Amino acid sequence: MNSSILLIYTGGTIGMKQDPETGALMPFNFNEILEEVPELKKFGCKIDTFSFEPPIDSSDIRTDFWIEIAKLIQKNYSLYDGFVILHGTDTMSYSASALSFMLENLQKPVIFTGSQLPIGMLRTDGKENLISSIEIAAAKDSEGRAMVPEVCIYFESQLYRGNRTTKYNAENFRAFRSANYPVLAEIGIHIKYNNAYIRYPETFSNELSIKTDLGTSVVILKIFPGISREIIEPILNINGLKAIILETYGSGNAPTAKWFIDLLKNAIDRGLIILNVTQCHAGKVDMDAYSTGILLKKIGVISGFDSTTEAALTKLFFILGQTDDNQNIKRMLQKNLRGEISNI
Ligand code: ASP
Repeated sequence: MNSSILLIYTGGTIGMKQDPETGALMPFNFNEILEEVPELKKFGCKIDTFSFEPPIDSSDIRTDFWIEIAKLIQKNYSLYDGFVILHGTDTMSYSASALSFMLENLQKPVIFTGSQLPIGMLRTDGKENLISSIEIAAAKDSEGRAMVPEVCIYFESQLYRGNRTTKYNAENFRAFRSANYPVLAEIGIHIKYNNAYIRYPETFSNELSIKTDLGTSVVILKIFPGISREIIEPILNINGLKAIILETYGSGNAPTAKWFIDLLKNAIDRGLIILNVTQCHAGKVDMDAYSTGILLKKIGVISGFDSTTEAALTKLFFILGQTDDNQNIKRMLQKNLRGEISNI
């Protein structure tokens, strides 16, 4: 294997050590991580490293980090065959989703990984995650093209499309789930790629371009029984708010109370975008299924189909960074841009 990989360290549990005073986990130096994995020297490919200074817990991730990662990949794109990003698990699905939109015409693997236990611990899951991620990022087909030219998350023997994932387990080594889309590869004795589900670029001749303008005036509003006008009204009137992700029940249902529907309708008429995603962990929004959903559709709520909340949020950030024309925004939201929704 004569590939070259850029390993980017942003922080997260994989690179943490216990603070002797408080006992809390804190990020540590990247070189110390590499010392914990002497196996990396056995790879037949070239592995260069880049570390964010200081490394962070991913709960501190902000959009400017995503921009920095996108620029770093663009700057090094022609020099490497693949990119592996070590990242905390807490917001990994958000970051992988964001990068999937920000990297346009991607033809090389960008694999996010991390771990539930620090890499220096005996029972760490970090070593296998790191080693397999590098192997996948370096893998090419018989024509020398990347096996998986997508932004992915690799974790605990499974390779997922990044913008289909959610962190669903805070303790188990299998921390992620992609409920609405099959895994892209499974790792056992062999790496089995599910080629039919991998997204390939339409043409390999387009250059990578990065989109770093993000519009972040977005709120996620989770519906719950007992939600009141006093709660919702001020949110809908936040100054400068462009869009709301409405986390609804089941297949996209919400209360039918007149005050509720009127508030949403008013906001939409004023130009607010309301995107409907389900609180369920699997399945899709279908606003034609129940009268409660039909009402939302009628007043102009947009379907998020089977999108995760993470993908819906970062897709909105991406789209709002490209255009402020509501017709364009709605059109782009309904389109499958990076494999984040199934049914279009
Ligand atoms: N809090 C850590 C982080 O997201 C958790 C982890 O990496 O698993 O950075």
